[in-house]
Amino acid sequence: MKAPFPPRELAKVQCSLLTWYRHHRRALPWRASKDAYRVWIAEIMLQQTRIAAVLPYYERFLEKFPDVASLARGSQPEVLRLWSGLGYYSRARNLHAAAREIIDRSGGKFPRTLEAALALPGVGRYTAAAVLSIAYDIPLAVLDGNVARVLARVFAIRGDLRAPRLWRQLSDIANHLLAHSAPGDWNQTLMELGETICTPQNPGCAECPVARHCHARARNLAGKIPAPRRKPASVHTRIAAAVLRDTRGRTLLVRDPGAHDGVLFSRMWQFPAIEVSRQPRAELENHLRATLCLDGAPLSLEALPAARHGVTFRNVTLLPFLVRIPRLPKPPRSRSLPLDSLHRVPISSATRKIAAAAVASQTPH
Ligand code: SF4
Repeated sequence: MKAPFPPRELAKVQCSLLTWYRHHRRALPWRASKDAYRVWIAEIMLQQTRIAAVLPYYERFLEKFPDVASLARGSQPEVLRLWSGLGYYSRARNLHAAAREIIDRSGGKFPRTLEAALALPGVGRYTAAAVLSIAYDIPLAVLDGNVARVLARVFAIRGDLRAPRLWRQLSDIANHLLAHSAPGDWNQTLMELGETICTPQNPGCAECPVARHCHARARNLAGKIPAPRRKPASVHTRIAAAVLRDTRGRTLLVRDPGAHDGVLFSRMWQFPAIEVSRQPRAELENHLRATLCLDGAPLSLEALPAARHGVTFRNVTLLPFLVRIPRLPKPPRSRSLPLDSLHRVPISSATRKIAAAAVASQTPH
């Protein structure tokens, strides 16, 4: 690849960008130290998730699990409970499994080589490069959607940035630009630039520290790079869920009932639920009878306010029903607890929405 900047220009770009970062970076809690554990937790939480959403989770998580040893000792349900509401729960499961591997195989320290970092569950090329560069100053360049957008604009690279050929080109550019004297700061500089100035919409070119070197700006292409990606058509689904409630105000949660895919409820505790088509009430009642071994007495299903829930390209309408019942059944892989105490167990955002509708409607039995 032809060098995108000649050496002298590259040195100037690196110097002005690093100076900009050191003066303008936001004071985020994971930037307070170079502790590999804290950087790693932040990088995992920030995957597909906005900084504002991560902040309270990050603080709580570190309070409970201040180091890798405490995380490895913790139970998976406890880890999931602290992750509850942040989404993409495989991240939490992998984090927990990786902490145990770090204790067993790396003497309790996040590994220092790319190969060993990549062997950990849930650690891909981006996360490994971010942690190793920020925590240990190992010269590895990061490339994610944010950084790719900045680089594509600076060098006016058009097309689908995720296409393998372009991604490779951007990866070569990222490696070429990397400031070997300060790889962690350099990577964070590009991340910060993409998050605060070279944003997807309306980039702030007038205040951008790399504006003088930016080809997209010079050619008035900033608004056209990257080309918008074609989104998959959204799929609409309706899920009916039963909030069973006994005379003591307790409800029933189940695990993996198999009536729908595992994504929506993230394989955590959930209300009995089923994907429905035309007759949600009747379809849910049949499902309850079949899976909970209820006797033949008629069930009364009171419709609660519906809630909307989005999962990637799926639009889900949640249809909660309150089912008052004298005694809760006890199917395998189930548990009962007071309806207003669901925060004690790991549940997904969809389950929270259903619970909120039920709690809001609580009336004397
Ligand atoms: S000048 Fe504009 S388009 Fe170029 S990197 Fe800066 S913000 Fe992005």
